[in-house]
Parts: sequence; C-alpha cells; structure tokens
Amino acid sequence: MSDQNSMPAVFETLKSAGYSCLRCGQCCARPAGGNSVFLMPDEAAAIHGFLIQNNIKIHNRDVSSSFTVPLFPDFYSDGDQPVFDVKMISNNLQIIRNQISNSGAIFTFGSMLKRTENGTCVFLDSETNKCQIYPVRPLLCQTYPFFIDFNEFDAEKPGNADVIECLCDGFESVSETDDSVCSELAELLVRRAGLEKIDYEKTKKQIQADQILTSGAGFGLAKEDLRNGFLRFIVCDSHGASEMKLQVTDFYLNTTNTNKTGQTCQTGQTCQTGQTDGTGKTRKTDGTDEKSI
Ligand code: SF4
Repeated sequence: MSDQNSMPAVFETLKSAGYSCLRCGQCCARPAGGNSVFLMPDEAAAIHGFLIQNNIKIHNRDVSSSFTVPLFPDFYSDGDQPVFDVKMISNNLQIIRNQISNSGAIFTFGSMLKRTENGTCVFLDSETNKCQIYPVRPLLCQTYPFFIDFNEFDAEKPGNADVIECLCDGFESVSETDDSVCSELAELLVRRAGLEKIDYEKTKKQIQADQILTSGAGFGLAKEDLRNGFLRFIVCDSHGASEMKLQVTDFYLNTTNTNKTGQTCQTGQTCQTGQTDGTGKTRKTDGTDEKSI
C-alpha cells in the first residue's frame, strides 16, 4: 500500500488537488480534451474477452471486435456542436504528413477506444453515466484526471514522479483528496507510467526495425483515399504492426442507425469476428479490423 512516505511527491500532488469524483461522466465525453482513450494491447484483449463473456451489446450491436480505432489526431471540431468533419481529417493529415508512408498508409502509435458520433466513449451508458466495461476499463480511465508523463518516469524512483492534472470539475471539490483515494491512484499511476514506457519502447523498436518512418511522400495518396471515403493505417504497438483499412464512417459508432441483429455484415455495420465485409476488412479477435494493403 503506497502512502505519504513511500511516494512523497506523487502523494502530495494527489492530496493537495482536493479531488473527489463527482460521477458526472464528463471525462468519458468530448468536453474532456477530445476524449481520446489510448489503449495498450493487453487492455484491448481484456475488453474483448469481457464483452464476449458478458454478452455486452452497445446500442444493440456486438462491438467486441470493433471497439478500437487507430490513435489519430482528433476527428472532432472544437465547436460546441458535435461535428464529424472530413475537412478536419484532411487538415489532420497535413499535420501528420511525415507519418504517412510512400504508399499512403498512416503509421500510428497504437489504438484508442471508438467514440459515438458526438464524441462520447462507446462504453458510457448515457442514461446512468456508468461505464459498461468498468472492471476492465483502461488504466487511462482508472487514473483520470491524473497522469505521469512516461517519458519522464524513472522506475527506480517512482514516488518522486511529477503528477499532471487533466480537465475535471472534481478538483477542489473537497479540501484534501481522501487518503485511500490517493493511495489507490498513486499505485495505478505508477503502474500505468511503467507499462506505457515499456510499451512505447517496444513500439519504437518495432518501428525502427520495420524502417517505417517516412518522408511524407504518400500524403497525396492518403488524401485521395480520404476523398474515396477511407484511410489506410499501419498500427504499431508493442505486439507488432498490423495493416488496416477503415471507412471514414467506421471511426465512430453511429447510434442513430442501430443494427439490431448484429448479423448483417455491410459497410458501416457490425461484422462477426473473421467475417469480411463489403470494404474488404476482416475483423480480428483483438478488437481491430485488418486488411492487407
Ligand atoms: S472505457 Fe469506461 S471509463 Fe473509460 S472513457 Fe469509456 S466509459 Fe469512460
């Protein structure tokens, strides 16, 4: 059990934040900094298993093999209204043009959770504000609204790490953060930073081994893909690199056009693991869609 003595700096920051969770659900929605929930591969596998085991459907759909998307600059505009904006995707391609291969595939460092069309996490129950995968929610969620920059993290001196605060109405809601909350968060934050560091190092090696960082010559091809309604990715994580082609409409879960049976396998709808849809994608068992590029 961590305490003030074993983790002085971490504990002090947490304690003085006066943090208490208000159960508002805002951290799972778009107002919390775009709501990009990064996932480590083992976390994706745990969520996949949990969804299958508990037969959990999201908006009446089986999303057990389609709840992640490549980690990519936010697709949502900054305005008050939720907007899914192809122009913004195009602008984001410009920003990451040096991550685009000569063949037009975009390299990403891992995956994030899929969102609905208004930017809310697919797993947030909008009526109860509860997480539908709570026991296996990612470490990022378990430690919100705090994080430790893994680049700065020293595993030899974990208790001295700088804890950074994110956007949250729960700050200063109490005079001091409860000791038991500090203790739990401190352990999770240190665990998360350590795992992220290991994952990042493995991913970097993977990228270097594959010599996949490019000069951005494929930018025009990626824009052409986008004009045709899709993008191609090479998603790199500590488990390796997988190629993936996604229809633009597959980047979010359309909650207004629910596939009640979950059986149909057409563009933009739910496919069962191993099936191939009209776009040529094949659903893998680890929560991603893949296709040879
Ligand atoms: S996985 Fe759960 S806790 Fe994390 S953002 Fe989604 S709904 Fe919120």
